[in-house]
Amino acid sequence: MQASTIKILEVGPRDGLQSVKSIMPTAQKVRWIRGLFEAGLTEIEIGSFVPPSVVPQMADMPEVAQAVTPIEGLLAVALVPNLRGAQRAVEAGVNRLTIPVSVSEAHSRANVRKSRQEMMEEVGSILRWRSEQGLSVRLEAGLSTAFGCSITGPVSEDDVIAMAETLAEMGVDEVGLSDTSGLGNPAQVRRLFTRLIHAIGPKAGAAHMHNTRGLGLANCLAAYDVGVRSFDSSQAGLGGCPFAPGASGNVVTEDLVFMFESMGVRTGVDLDRLIACREILQQGLPAETLYGMTPGAWPLPGVWGPQ
Ligand code: ZN
Repeated sequence: MQASTIKILEVGPRDGLQSVKSIMPTAQKVRWIRGLFEAGLTEIEIGSFVPPSVVPQMADMPEVAQAVTPIEGLLAVALVPNLRGAQRAVEAGVNRLTIPVSVSEAHSRANVRKSRQEMMEEVGSILRWRSEQGLSVRLEAGLSTAFGCSITGPVSEDDVIAMAETLAEMGVDEVGLSDTSGLGNPAQVRRLFTRLIHAIGPKAGAAHMHNTRGLGLANCLAAYDVGVRSFDSSQAGLGGCPFAPGASGNVVTEDLVFMFESMGVRTGVDLDRLIACREILQQGLPAETLYGMTPGAWPLPGVWGPQ
């Protein structure tokens, strides 16, 4: 039987770095991204093209993109909140764009200072610009707060699916679901991803789970069980969302890789090399706490091997 395979998008250099107060020096960001790539993470969210006045951690994006986009085999992804960001990202050589669209109106205003409707219009502008320019860059949308909002509480599942359908019809290449506030549970994850896959088929995108309340891995497994094969995670669980109160911690890439590889699901990631990258991260952010269970119980010489 052929082994199952998943794709991991490492979001630490974007989701992680923009959520911490200290700023990682540019050269260290580049070292870290290179290290993650060499550990087998071929898809990396390298940062976000947002105004430096709002997110000073990302002020050096053009330099970072210039240094890492030439890496052969690396799919450099960038988060963009609007058309201007998309244009800057493409100019800098980014291969794939992701735009966050909040299902919760309150989170949308807190996160991007725009309403849901205004964000949908922003997506439309990017799509129009892409086709006018004849560009092949992929555009993905991530539905933030899809599993609940820490500002306003529960989110309507019908709303999530309706927004996903609209975005897919508009021409977005993929629509993923993000548990921005870390409120999702496995039963909900199963239900919502099943509906998403049914509604938009091959355009159903990644599971972006947070570990705020310890359910990150359980939620990833629930998503996998209903057919999801793309996951977002960050090294050492760095990140969260600075604009969603109490939301901290992405799923830890090291733990995610260990879980899937142990199950016989291929990730393409070399855990030894990935764990070694924590040192680069710590050097770049000496004051930050690094999370994750697997690195503390590593290595497992002669006992565990993914191949
Ligand atoms: Zn996140």
